[in-house]
Amino acid sequence: MQQQNEFTHIETVAVHAGHEVDPASGAVMPPINLSTTFERKADGTYTNGNSYSRSDNPNRRALESCLAMLEGGSVALAFSSGMAATATVFQALASGDHILVPGDVYFGTGKIAQELFGTWGLGCTIVDMTDLDQMAAAIRPNTKLIWVETPSNPLLKITDIAAVSKLAHEAGALCVVDNTWASPICQRPLEQGADWVMHSTTKYLGGHSDLTGGALIAREADAFFQRLRMIQQWGGAVPAPFDCWLLRRSISTLPYRVRAHCENAQQVANFLATHPRVAAVHYPGLTSHPGHAIAQKQMTAFGGMLSIQVHGDADQTRAVASSTKLFTQATSLGGVESLIEHRYSVEGPTSRTPPNLLRLSIGLEHVADLIADLDQALMQ
Ligand SMILES: *Cc1c(COP(=O)(O)O)cnc(C)c1O
Repeated sequence: MQQQNEFTHIETVAVHAGHEVDPASGAVMPPINLSTTFERKADGTYTNGNSYSRSDNPNRRALESCLAMLEGGSVALAFSSGMAATATVFQALASGDHILVPGDVYFGTGKIAQELFGTWGLGCTIVDMTDLDQMAAAIRPNTKLIWVETPSNPLLKITDIAAVSKLAHEAGALCVVDNTWASPICQRPLEQGADWVMHSTTKYLGGHSDLTGGALIAREADAFFQRLRMIQQWGGAVPAPFDCWLLRRSISTLPYRVRAHCENAQQVANFLATHPRVAAVHYPGLTSHPGHAIAQKQMTAFGGMLSIQVHGDADQTRAVASSTKLFTQATSLGGVESLIEHRYSVEGPTSRTPPNLLRLSIGLEHVADLIADLDQALMQ
């Protein structure tokens, strides 16, 4: 077996980390261990430490070692969904603690921080993380955690991970980055100074819109990591062995998929930037994007997500989303197929998303077909 630290390139990590020939059968592809329980030996110990699958499972362990290496961390926890991972972080805080979250944080993250954990005594302040002075002013003595999401949803705002991590550490707080939209191929927050990375693996890591999962990756197996693992093992927000296996399989192609997502997205963004029906394009790969310089500093590519604002009202905007033939009108992102979504009508009248905004997850179809499809939908 190769030592994991010999893998220096991410393509090699994606294929080999947590992926070994099965010693029992010689199978090149690992088996799926469905057993919920494992034999205890006469001396009271367990083979490879497995005892019960809420605590641990060989497929989960393999996935976790791969996830840790992808993000340049040392340990990882795999969850049954992105929200299960996020909720576990908040559960690890104490009543009376305070956190900062960005204004356009993922809808579910903001909702549980305020409505679920708020009732348990967690304080939460919403700030514009592109404004470091506003952030510094919002930090309180009991601020324990700063939650970053960059690029953000749905306006693709860019937050300076190194600057926010520094601010967090000066305040004695942790910096956690939701890295779902960038994926570890475009951005590795631990290298920028963040303490933890969170993923909805449902998106790019899964990549085929056929599994739900989440992950947390840490720089070190410190006391906070032990606490999160304990909460997961006790609370049970664990992924099924099959989902772990499927996700590990999908990760093998992650670097190549994400590269193609990014190339397509850049070309679609360039096309839309000069389209007469388009009022604005939000994509960090455009030099006109206000976060472009920071994105260039902390990302190796600009991702496969973009949003546009069209000339028109909410109904006219939704009509564009309904007129595409290749882009499916659906939520979520990161799959091989392109998706388009009118966030305003999904979020309802209290939505802060502009009514003329469409969010696009650029897939792996040929870019000329994607551009032609958007052009005909916009010209309807
Ligand atoms: C989808 C998503 C989540 C939530 O993950 P689930 O797997 O749906 O629970 C969190 N953050 C971001 C940025 C997402 O896109």
